Amino acid sequence: MAYKTINPYTNEVVKEYSNTTDQELEEALQIGKDLYEKFKTQLVKERGKILHDVAAKIREQADELARACTIDMGKLFTEAQGEVELCAVIADWFADHSEEMLKPEPVETSANGTAEIQHHATGVLVMVEPWNFPYYQIMRVFAPNFMVGNPMILKHASNTPTSAKMMADIIIEAGAPKGSIAHLFLTYDQVTNAIEDPRVQGVALTGSERGGEAVAQAAGKNLKKTTMELGGMDPFVVLDDANMDDVSDIAWRSRLYNAGQECTSSKRFIVMENVYDEFVERLKENFSKVQPGDPLDPKTTLAPMNTKKAKEDLQEQVDEAIKAGAKVEYGNEAIDLPGQFFMPTILTNIDKDNPAHSTELFGPVAVVYKVSTEKEAIELANDSSYGLGGIVFAGDSEHGAEVASQIETGMVFVNNFRYSLPELPFGGVKRSGYGREMSRLGQMAFVNEKLIVKADRPDMNNLAGGLVATDPE
Ligand code: NAP
Repeated sequence: MAYKTINPYTNEVVKEYSNTTDQELEEALQIGKDLYEKFKTQLVKERGKILHDVAAKIREQADELARACTIDMGKLFTEAQGEVELCAVIADWFADHSEEMLKPEPVETSANGTAEIQHHATGVLVMVEPWNFPYYQIMRVFAPNFMVGNPMILKHASNTPTSAKMMADIIIEAGAPKGSIAHLFLTYDQVTNAIEDPRVQGVALTGSERGGEAVAQAAGKNLKKTTMELGGMDPFVVLDDANMDDVSDIAWRSRLYNAGQECTSSKRFIVMENVYDEFVERLKENFSKVQPGDPLDPKTTLAPMNTKKAKEDLQEQVDEAIKAGAKVEYGNEAIDLPGQFFMPTILTNIDKDNPAHSTELFGPVAVVYKVSTEKEAIELANDSSYGLGGIVFAGDSEHGAEVASQIETGMVFVNNFRYSLPELPFGGVKRSGYGREMSRLGQMAFVNEKLIVKADRPDMNNLAGGLVATDPE
């Protein structure tokens, strides 16, 4: 059985799940299609009430959800609680705002009559989601698409089946009709079969480039729309006049949150030479303070990585980086606990040929670069095949924003920690993917923007130029 919960703190196999059969997938697709037809006649505001009930139920079961997530993938319980609350916030936000966003929009036109764009559902969607934020990733796709009336088939990561099932069950228990979210334990081939099915109209994936490529290829072959939220090597740029107390408070958190397993973790610190030594010293100091231990214990501040394989893969990448000339400024020592812990590590002296310069390190490893000009900082920030997010610290936030606007990513935060909130669009460019989740942009990702031009009668003096046949007489 591929789907199992293995607690990465104790290494104990907690629960295994059988794969979904082809027959079960077929049933889910048909239930989804029937629900899509029903949703067409339901007012958006009716679904808004249900989505508020979903938010309430998530809050009611917050601790059980947080605990399941900690056991599935090792996240600190306190961080898991934050993730659960964010899901409720997202559900409430779309429940409150979708009706307005989905109202028809008038279009000024020289055509005869009036024109408007209506926003309609398109059909069943497939969502493929990762383990690192097992609840939040679901909610980012579920909330806007439930509101528009797109039923969803969910294929979640094989190592977080318990959390995924819990969230999908809660949504249905809160009153969403069966089929609104059908959580299935699918094989990769079944995901492809679902994408090929004519009842499916779109696919949203969050995950690696490997997963993204496979799923986008199947979708492209079948002309299905996709959104791709993929990896990142987000830069954290420290300008020469930055407030170093703020930088030091944010830098370590932005690397170690979720044990560094976040697409928008700051993975490359690009620091001006006048503050470089201080930066490295303070990062070391903060990294040395974290306390590994039971992630359910609120005193623990360093979580284990999500699986044994993830830890081994990261170690291999760090070893390769060192072989290619990286200097270990801090860390890279074993942690004497049975869980999948990786000691926070700082690498410097990374040149452009070092694999750590171009491959995502998905764990608590910071790469720090020294630069002597702002131009060099921007060039280095953009010297990446990824383009997801980033942070800029500057003495003057206006100037910080000028630098931010030159960084080729989908999101940049100036003198701030990174935010992920329902009103802010989330997504990237380059190999970090395409499309946006959350906000109005995420609301419209799988919507049929249908044009209706309406007139009482045709205006024979206002026909569209050469586009109509000329009068035979
Ligand atoms: P992954 O291997 O691509 O897994 C993500 C999901 O895709 C899982 O459900 C996985 O299922 C599924 N999947 C993978 N290959 C597939 C295929 N060929 N067909 C169908 N489904 C497939 O990603 P990961 O390595 O676990 O996740 C970490 C990556 O996600 C990092 O690169 C991170 O930066 C990125 N990420 C991006 C965002 C964002 O919003 N941009 C957010 C979080 C994470 P299995 O588990 O069964 O393999």
